[in-house]
Amino acid sequence: MSGWREECGIVGVYAPGEPVADLAYLALFALQHRGQESAGLAVTDGRQLDAAKGPGLMTEAFRDRRPDLAGHAAVGHVRYSSAALHSSIQPIFAYGHGGFLCLAHNGNLVNAPVLRTGLERSGCIFQTSTDSEIILNLIARFPGPTLEDRVKGSLAQLEGAYSLVLMTGQTLIGARDPHGFRPLCLGALKGGGYALASESCALDAIEADFLRDVAPGELVVIDQGGLRYESIGGPPVRRAACIFEYVYFARPDSVLDGLSVWQARYNMGRRLAREFKVSADLVAPVPDTGISAALGFSAESGLPYLEGLIKNRYVGRTFILPNQARRRGAVDMKFNTIRSNLLGRRVVLVDDSLVRGTTSAQLVAKLRRAGAGEIHFCLSSPPITHPCCYGIDTSVRRELAAAVKSVEEIRAFLKADSLHYLSRAGLLEAVDDPGEERMCTACFSGEYPTPVYGAFDDEGS
Ligand code: AMP
Repeated sequence: MSGWREECGIVGVYAPGEPVADLAYLALFALQHRGQESAGLAVTDGRQLDAAKGPGLMTEAFRDRRPDLAGHAAVGHVRYSSAALHSSIQPIFAYGHGGFLCLAHNGNLVNAPVLRTGLERSGCIFQTSTDSEIILNLIARFPGPTLEDRVKGSLAQLEGAYSLVLMTGQTLIGARDPHGFRPLCLGALKGGGYALASESCALDAIEADFLRDVAPGELVVIDQGGLRYESIGGPPVRRAACIFEYVYFARPDSVLDGLSVWQARYNMGRRLAREFKVSADLVAPVPDTGISAALGFSAESGLPYLEGLIKNRYVGRTFILPNQARRRGAVDMKFNTIRSNLLGRRVVLVDDSLVRGTTSAQLVAKLRRAGAGEIHFCLSSPPITHPCCYGIDTSVRRELAAAVKSVEEIRAFLKADSLHYLSRAGLLEAVDDPGEERMCTACFSGEYPTPVYGAFDDEGS
């Protein structure tokens, strides 16, 4: 695994005669929630490659310039990681004897160290510590008569999570790892051509018709000849789509692998209310990610849904600020209470997940200051006991509250009157996978669908 975890959004557009740079920009904008630390776009007309990228939100990264080449294909990337060295901002590209390769990648490889060492031994020089550069180098070096052969042969060596878009002068390729950890979908553009994106909300943003999700282990190849599907190959493995995309990460207006994220969260809330019967006056969400589940909780329990917290939408995510002290201040900047809705009331507060517990503890304190009588903290996911090695930044193990504390200890730390987590069975039912055949739940169970090669050995227990 590389030096940091990546959470990302990717897009690819292939549409000769269409304003591909603008389309990719708009699609990528709809994926801003998947990464606020850096953004990049690259466009080609077959001969030239025009790219712009930079740190920060899209409005910051493209403040000075957006690629504006009148090309036929474009790829884009937004990244979450806080270690945004300019050289590692994606898309990344390399020039070789067959022209250029341009890659945007979402996910984490578990066998990156071994692949990197192999490449270094054969003379490869790396500019970054990202997994993406490993993939690019494998493809650039793999022998094979066609690009597809080289891509398939390279991807077959990867273990772990990847959804990616790869652009050359003539071809756009989308690929999803055989487990299907990270999402990727395909749409048809109104004016002709195709778009690939991490989430369907990005296709909606450019009025592309959703065609289908890229299947786990599938390669979608788009060029002058149209669209074709190929298989990456390799032994069959179990499907393992990231369940945390539904819990927290994806946008509620997206549909991933046929399941609406909003509906999944609503189901989680309903199920939570069935598992946790409480006498209270109202259900309030932690905005924004707790809203759909709080609505489900309210519908199932019959308790009125009422806003108790308001989020300042101009404050970015607190989670990734580099230290606890800054995180604390940011939570204060981000949320305020509606006292008249809370005073003397028994409140069920619904949030999607508890990672370190920093946010939740401060929210409870805020509700108390606003005069709430009782606070029943409800989470629409089970305790996060294990770090993710497939691309969700859920922190290192020793920082995960549920890895080191019991539920009662967490409740006491939050100073809540009660604390209730959705059961794992309840979560699986909410995403319509009761037998756990399609989802990865490693962060809740420690059952990693791939070997992890000692990735967490230095992270404390
Ligand atoms: P914490 O204060 O560490 O418990 O953070 C929990 C809050 O962060 C919850 O409100 C979640 O909505 C949000 N959250 C959960 N997972 C992540 C993640 N991987 N990146 C950023 N925020 C997250």
